[in-house]
Amino acid sequence: MDSMEPKVLWNYFLELSKIPRGSKHEQAAAQWVADQGKALGCEVLRDPIGNVIIKKKATPGLEARPAICLQAHVDMVCEKNEGTQHDFLKDPIPVYRDGDLLKARGTTLGADNGIGVATALAVLAATDIPHGPVEVLVTIDEETGMTGAENVQPGILKAKYLLNLDSEEEGFLTIGCAGGIDTIATRKATWQAPKAGAKGYRLKVSGLKGGHSGIDIANHRGNAIRFLARTLYALQQNFEVGIALLQGGNKRNAIPREAFAILAL
Ligand SMILES: [Zn+2]
Repeated sequence: MDSMEPKVLWNYFLELSKIPRGSKHEQAAAQWVADQGKALGCEVLRDPIGNVIIKKKATPGLEARPAICLQAHVDMVCEKNEGTQHDFLKDPIPVYRDGDLLKARGTTLGADNGIGVATALAVLAATDIPHGPVEVLVTIDEETGMTGAENVQPGILKAKYLLNLDSEEEGFLTIGCAGGIDTIATRKATWQAPKAGAKGYRLKVSGLKGGHSGIDIANHRGNAIRFLARTLYALQQNFEVGIALLQGGNKRNAIPREAFAILAL
């Protein structure tokens, strides 16, 4: 990984990846971001909710240019495959390089939005980009409630323009934003003892790619919960199926890559 360019950016990314930063557990990572800003000689603020604001002065002569804010979120979605031993509260993300890609062994990588944080820090560290005043806003808790972004204090940023660094298409600049909505469906189960002679089975769907429910939803990726439900539906056409347990996915914003059912057949 030492040969990756630009070095400054990848160093920030790899260092950040060592600090656990699941949503609502990003205190240490946010502090690390603040420390990087201080080490670069910038003005650093922490707001009451835990966001980090770093301000870098304009290149001499460019003070009158409009200030620009670079924004990224420090928290990440923590998901791991069944059987992967990983404590998201303690362990560094097991990052490795596979050709031109960085990946994580058995866990999410946190590229969303670690690469945004690393990019913003790399811009702060750069000495070869003439710029007006630059502000960096690193928010907490983007993935599970946006409480960081929602509680940014009015007036704390002076920037005229804000560039959100959380897009996932290289070379694209998007103007605007889509929203999200949660749906909760509840159905009452009626429990009964398994039929005499029924055998227990565990049905597992795994090995899917997963992905982000917003970004990857149009890529026709398999959804483990839907595969499981369709399989159960097909089974029911031919057998009497008792369902003891249904389980699949564990994040609202990730396409389920694994799902399980325990059956009496
Ligand atoms: Zn994100």
